[in-house]
This record gives sequence, structure tokens and C-alpha cells, in this order.
Amino acid sequence: MTNHHRVIIIGSGPAGLTAAIYSARADLAPLVIEGEPSSTSDQPGGQLMLTTEVENFPGFPSGVMGPELMLQFRDQAARFGAHFLTAKVTAIDFSERPFKVWVRDEIYTADAVIVSTGAQSVMLGLEGENRLLGHGVSTCATCDGFFFRDQHIAVVGGGDSAIEEAIFLTKFASKVSLLVRRDELRASKIMQQRAFKNPKIEIVWNTVVDDLVGSIRLEGAVVHNVVTGDVTTLPVTGLFVAIGHRPNTDLFKGVLQMGDNGYLITQPGSTYTDVEGVFACGDVQDHTYRQAVTAAGSGCMAAIDAERWLEAQSHRSHG
Ligand code: NDP
Repeated sequence: MTNHHRVIIIGSGPAGLTAAIYSARADLAPLVIEGEPSSTSDQPGGQLMLTTEVENFPGFPSGVMGPELMLQFRDQAARFGAHFLTAKVTAIDFSERPFKVWVRDEIYTADAVIVSTGAQSVMLGLEGENRLLGHGVSTCATCDGFFFRDQHIAVVGGGDSAIEEAIFLTKFASKVSLLVRRDELRASKIMQQRAFKNPKIEIVWNTVVDDLVGSIRLEGAVVHNVVTGDVTTLPVTGLFVAIGHRPNTDLFKGVLQMGDNGYLITQPGSTYTDVEGVFACGDVQDHTYRQAVTAAGSGCMAAIDAERWLEAQSHRSHG
């Protein structure tokens, strides 16, 4: 494999792998730099590698395990000629073309780059949190709420995300305890009112989670009140962590345009970034929908945008 590629795709979640399928089928033989297995933020396959069953991805009426789904995406891209490098990008230079991408000391060059490095949920940092992810601990109510029918569960956080998750979860759960670390919510007033009005939501003020109970599945959460110091164990079978998301954009600071929240900015209705020839798709540029299917859709858009842009470039250089 030479180190020059028509297209390099950075990241291998649903967005990156869909971009790989489409650009491979467009005969661009993309190189996917897929991330490193040992990491929780840069793992090949993205956030779905940290979930168990996915029931909302179209085409799988009986559900599919997240890692299995991503393996199928990957196999499909490989079948059409995508190459994979299991490594993490350490540096980039998009100031001139061909673009340069480093993996430690090795340089890879590309005529076009698709950025699909995704985002990660901010976690509480508790021992056992990663082990119980997908086994009671979750970061996505839309994905996992269904599994908690008639159960008592908790949501951690006091922002709009936490309230949105809590309200959604009341469709399934018998009771939702919203664990808020202060005595007020950060969420917008309208969301606060919705939470206050919902009879299934109990707001537990001034409360932080200290520990998770359960070895195979979550059986409870040890919490303490920061004002009184009281320690209790809530007998919850689900704990949804909704304390924010962080896009994986450190590599692109000062290089690609991003909002105050660190998400990459793409031109509306497209995957164009502010650097011509660099495209972005998936959660790295979407803080609104954050679904596998929407990420995959934008990955398809990025591949088509890149293909058309490359085609226009070659006409320009030949004519
Ligand atoms: P926010 O940063 O707005 O809120 C994070 C919440 O988590 C805060 O209540 C914060 O507490 C709490 N928190 C942070 N760290 C911890 C911790 N270690 N332990 C316990 N609690 C913690 O993030 P969101 O994801 O809620 O929202 C992000 C943005 O997206 C916001 O601008 C929001 O308005 C927007 N959004 C809008 C929606 C809508 O309009 N429907 C839906 C979802 C998001 P503290 O307040 O004490 O810092």
C-alpha cells in the first residue's frame, strides 16, 4: 500500500464506514484510519462498540448487537476495496494539498479527507462505569429506554439533555430519579417545567453518584447528598449518564472551523468544512440528532461530496 490515497477517512463509526462504502464503490479505494482498540474514545467502530443491542437501526427487525453491526459495516466497506489502518491519527496538516495525516512518524497523504471522528459522552469516571455500560448503565435513552419497562431508573445531570432523557424514559420506566448535583437545574425553563410536571420524575437535589452496585448488571447506585452528607443506595436497574457530550476534535483545533461547543461546522445541507477538500460527517459535526442512522446518512453525503469535488478538481487540472 502506498502512502498516498485519493481519500483518507479518519474515524470508523457509522459515518466513517458509510463514507468508506460509498467512496470505495466510487472506485476511490479510501484508506480508513479506524482508531485504536484499547481506547474508549477512539475505538474502531465508534460509540456503538460500547452498546449492546441496537433496536432502532432500520433493517434489523429483531435488533442487532452494536459491535456486530459495526463489523458488518466494515466488511461491506472492505468488500468494495476500502483499506483499513488500525491506528490513531496523531497530527494533520490541511494547509496545502495533498493533505497530510500522521500516524506517529508515518505520513499519509490524500487528495480529500473525510473527518468522522465522532463524539463521546462525558462520563462520571466511576469504577465499573465502562464495565456496566450496556448492562444497566447507558448514555442514550433513545437507544436503551425500551429495556427498562416498569423499572425504577435514574438519570444523572441537570441540563436539557438530562431532562429530555428523563422525560423520554418515563414512557417506559415506572419511576425516574433525576440526580442533580446542585439545588437548581441548568436546563431551560420550559424543560424544567416539563420535568416538574411529570409525575414519574422525582428530582433528587444536591446528589452525586459515588459508586455502582452490581457485577454483571447494574443493581443500584450509591449516592450521597452533598449538603447533609447522607449516603443511600438507590435500587435502580438503569442509570443514564447525561452530563454532556464532547466531540473528538482536538486534532482540528485552529485548522477547521468549529463552534464554541467544539463541534465542526459544515456548510448547511452539505458536509463541506471551511477547508476545501476536507469534509466532515457524523457526530463530530452533529450535536442534535446523534443517531447511528443519521451519522450513516451524513457519511454517505460526505463520500458523494468528496467524489464530486475530486471529479471537479480533475476537470480543472485537465482543462
Ligand atoms: P449541559 O452542559 O447543559 O448540562 C450538563 C449537566 O450535567 C449540568 O446540569 C451539570 O451540572 C451536570 N453535570 C456535569 N458534570 C457532572 C458530574 N460530574 N456529575 C453530575 N452532574 C454533572 O449539557 P447538556 O448535554 O444537557 O446540553 C448541552 C447543550 O445542548 C445545551 O446547550 C443544551 O441547551 C442543548 N440541548 C438542548 C435540548 C433541547 O432544547 N431540547 C436537548 C438537549 C441538549 P451543573 O449545572 O452543576 O454544572
